[in-house]
Amino acid sequence: DVLVRVDGLVRTYGSTRAVRGASFDVQAGEIHALCGHNGAGKSTVVKMLSGQESPDAGTIHLAGRLVDLGSRQAAQRGGVALVDQELSVVPALTVMENLMLGDPQVGWLDRRRTAARRFRPVLDDLGLGHLRLDQPLTDLGIGERQLVEIARALGQQARLVILDEPTATLSDVESAHVYSAVRKVAASGCSVLFVSHRLGEVLELCDTVTVMRDGDVVATTSTADLTVES
Ligand code: ADP
Ligand code: ADP
Repeated sequence: DVLVRVDGLVRTYGSTRAVRGASFDVQAGEIHALCGHNGAGKSTVVKMLSGQESPDAGTIHLAGRLVDLGSRQAAQRGGVALVDQELSVVPALTVMENLMLGDPQVGWLDRRRTAARRFRPVLDDLGLGHLRLDQPLTDLGIGERQLVEIARALGQQARLVILDEPTATLSDVESAHVYSAVRKVAASGCSVLFVSHRLGEVLELCDTVTVMRDGDVVATTSTADLTVES
């Protein structure tokens, strides 16, 4: 089942053709890597998928429906959760307040119960079982804040979670927690788009990889085809 169909996306900034006709499909429930050198166009594709930029040409279908996401909020309502490269958690708020930030599906009154039910398991998977939900984020280290950011996206029960280099600032232990939490959400049927240029984690974690170069998709292939049996 195709969840996301990206077809002929083009985005130009002035004279820079950041993305020049990218096409690929993300299957339902798969972990799909997006790879390529700096400047290949990955972030621009992510911004179009998450409603932060509009394509100059091309289409995005989500679950068979043409989407015009328009804004990050619209993307979130449409079931797309994003962790991008800048931390967006708010240090002055508590862990729970950060987890609920911008969650379109939860009313004010049942926030606390919902936070506990939905996010506790994700926090545990991410190795944050020791945190209290009412702890201010200022108590947490940088790695833990990044993990809270990831927990927020994974706990949203989105159809597509986009993680843009989520482990770049994490230790190996923290990264391993991210991998197991990502596997769990994918097993529940959510698709994951995982932007990375670490070949090891791509081969280990991801089912499929799309490689970009100079704004083009050069290949989409199963990672099983890239792994040498020992
Ligand atoms: P990465 O390669 O890790 O995605 P970049 O340094 O390419 O990071 O981009 C970081 C941010 O700056 C992105 O939001 C991108 O859209 C923006 N950006 C990149 N290049 C330019 C540029 N030439 N002018 C303005 N913004 C840019
Ligand atoms: P990647 O994420 O793969 O590093 P980007 O999508 O960030 O690639 O960038 C692709 C190309 O588009 C780069 O040449 C970058 O400098 C350029 N670019 C990205 N965002 C902007 C922007 N806002 N303004 C101008 N150029 C940009």
